[in-house]
Amino acid sequence: FSTAHDLVSKPTHAKVGRIPVGLGKRRLRIVVTGGAGFVGSHLVDKLLDRGNDVIVIDNFFTGRKDNLVHHFGNPRFELIRHDVVEPILLEVDQIYHLACPASPVHYKYNPVKTIKTNVMGTLNMLGLAKRIGARFLLTSTSEVYGDPLEHPQKETYWGNVNPIGERSCYDEGKRTAETLAMDYHRGADVEVRIARIFNTYGPRMCLDDGRVVSNFVAQAIRRQPLTVYGDGKQTRSFQYVSDLVNGLVALMDGEHVGPFNLGNPGEFTMLELAEVVKETIDSSATIEFRPNTADDPHKRKPDISKAKELLNWEPKVSLREGLPLMVSDFQNRILNEDEGKAI
Ligand code: NAD
Ligand code: UDP
Ligand code: UDP
Repeated sequence: FSTAHDLVSKPTHAKVGRIPVGLGKRRLRIVVTGGAGFVGSHLVDKLLDRGNDVIVIDNFFTGRKDNLVHHFGNPRFELIRHDVVEPILLEVDQIYHLACPASPVHYKYNPVKTIKTNVMGTLNMLGLAKRIGARFLLTSTSEVYGDPLEHPQKETYWGNVNPIGERSCYDEGKRTAETLAMDYHRGADVEVRIARIFNTYGPRMCLDDGRVVSNFVAQAIRRQPLTVYGDGKQTRSFQYVSDLVNGLVALMDGEHVGPFNLGNPGEFTMLELAEVVKETIDSSATIEFRPNTADDPHKRKPDISKAKELLNWEPKVSLREGLPLMVSDFQNRILNEDEGKAI
């Protein structure tokens, strides 16, 4: 008996992809778009660990080869420099579609490119999925809820989004990507999965990514003041990256379309987050207030009952446990950067 509302995916009949090699024994071949980025590179680690073949497609806008260098030379791993806005021909079993800048600083840098990535990029990956009968997972976002009037947010909430604001290239782009996924599902029988990801942090985030956790951690290590935007009373719920990766794989492997909220319900104000960063890295760190950005959501917290019930998934790592796990990675990269400057 299930109380959570969801579509159970119909198996697709358009199996023109790879020829099976031995029943049940075939390794899956999986594409990860955006696989050189923060979340994508951790997902690639997990998929290779599970014995799959992995092809990464990335244009390196915010991703880095460094995030994947430990797989170079592995015959089960391929890296293709490619922009998902352009079509591509491949034969695979599953597509994890992550390609899209995720930090507000990056997605606002070239908003037209961001919306093209979300719309044309997602269309191309769905067209690919349709042609080869692959299962397609979209990494959507909690931003589809906009500045939410419902708290915490359930998947049934339709959101409160400004269609003409500075964040629209991202949040409306992802909303359109969800629409496209559902239309290919209903209209072309593509097996789709939709994840709505809430703020996620961990090792390999870009140092100057602009997102709040990476900013605070890098600032505390560099002994700079932590920059709190606005009054710091706005909230977010922070998820450690390994929890997200487990959720994405459970969603892809399961039979439910979604959308599913994947996030950690532990909710913090930005001032509380600054305190945790101080406790973790440097208790003498100071705080500097800066003006907030336009249309900043006031609060955000996932209701994850649906993922708990249907995917048997929930996050395991609290903010206080997860933050220390990204500190040494940040310290090493900041040290290398400083040494680079000194040369
Ligand atoms: P990221 O910026 O580290 O990674 C995005 C990757 O996509 C990068 O490697 C980038 O080079 C690549 N990319 C961007 N545009 C591309 C294009 N046109 N063609 C090919 N590659 C392209 O971001 P992330 O945090 O790893 O986010 C991954 C996905 O998860 C994104 O789709 C994002 O919207 C979603 N998401 C992330 C979070 C989060 O908190 N990290 C929250 C919600 C949703
Ligand atoms: N596409 C792709 N790789 C494929 C199949 C399709 O990149 O293997 C792209 C294709 O170029 C098109 C998009 O996906 O822009 C949508 O494809 P679909 O077949 O659904 O639509 P159509 O081409 O009929 O408009
Ligand atoms: N923020 C902050 N200081 C920073 C960066 C961001 O106080 O240095 C705030 C930002 O205004 C927002 C929250 O932190 O309220 C989360 O911002 P982020 O860019 O990490 O992600 P978002 O959830 O807005 O996509």
